[in-house]
Amino acid sequence: MGRHIYVHIPFCEAKCPYCSFFSVADKDHYGEYFDALKKEIESAPLNSADDHDEIDTVYFGGGTPSVPDSDHIKGALKAVLDHFNIDPGNAEITIEANPHSLTADKAGAYIAMGFNRISMGIQSLHDDTLKLLGRLHNREGALGALKIAREAGFENISGDLIIGVPGQTTEEVIEDAQTLIDCGCRHISSYSLSIEEGTPFERRYGKSLDDPDIQEAERAMYHGLRDFLNRNGFVPYEISNSSLKGFESRHNSAYWRAVEYYGFGAGSHGYIGGQRYGHECDIRKYIKAPDQTIVEEVLTESDKMTEYAMLMLRTSSGLTDEGFIKRFGRTIPEDIRKIMKILVDRKLCDSIDSGIRLSRYGLDYANEAFMEFL
Ligand code: SF4
Repeated sequence: MGRHIYVHIPFCEAKCPYCSFFSVADKDHYGEYFDALKKEIESAPLNSADDHDEIDTVYFGGGTPSVPDSDHIKGALKAVLDHFNIDPGNAEITIEANPHSLTADKAGAYIAMGFNRISMGIQSLHDDTLKLLGRLHNREGALGALKIAREAGFENISGDLIIGVPGQTTEEVIEDAQTLIDCGCRHISSYSLSIEEGTPFERRYGKSLDDPDIQEAERAMYHGLRDFLNRNGFVPYEISNSSLKGFESRHNSAYWRAVEYYGFGAGSHGYIGGQRYGHECDIRKYIKAPDQTIVEEVLTESDKMTEYAMLMLRTSSGLTDEGFIKRFGRTIPEDIRKIMKILVDRKLCDSIDSGIRLSRYGLDYANEAFMEFL
């Protein structure tokens, strides 16, 4: 089974008012951070038989990886390619980028250094929505950045959209999706705006977006977009992700199969040797001790199966005996089968061949379905 690598680049040009990801607007530490990151990658242990498995995907996320100079990214990717067993011709190697910081020089450099997929933080193509979200780009900038990515040679472009923004309509979101398709995106992710603790949006909106009418409108937007994408050949292969056939994110699909992956960089998380571990969300501490990790959880075989079951429910493949046999070499155990029956009885899931998948109703109450496993 191939492994996966996530590299966290915790820098942004400015902090968006709704964001709770670990990222900072701190230009002063690029040099030291990337030196530490290379050190961590180069010292990753490769001492079991599994560690020599080919790496299937590499994902540079953030933060905003397109903010620091591309030489920094080049150094970090080179460290990954030199240290691990990776065939760049086969691996999916993704970089996240934002329209405001992506230049033609950077996009060309990313292709030259080995990235073959780019995930663009478009969020919206309506200026009023972008302004409300506190984004630094506008529609024109987003369209320009997509052109830059295409002209640099990216054939596998993903665009992120945010839905459920106050004042946004379903028509606008569908219009944005159509434009992304016209601009060459082959994968579209759509995330519902959530109000996170401690963010300026929490102070601005509090619990006001929990209003049942607002929630209902957000769900209608979600289904309207999902159905539109489906009609246009973008198969909704996961709760928030749709793509043309063959352009599903291999990296994210690995997370949903609950397989192991390395996490490098401040604030990143990994899962290796049955252990979930994380790094502190503090750049200075990370720079001092980049290989210091905190073990968050040691998973038993039963934990792994439960986690896999819960994560696979996010996908349109669903939770099936076939998938279970592929992942664990056995059919679904009885305790998980009991939960599956409850989910079907509660109409959160539909029965499919040898398993279950979230129903249309269940897509709106997915968290309730996941809770049954806890
Ligand atoms: S660009 Fe992305 S990671 Fe950075 S602050 Fe905005 S939402 Fe957060």
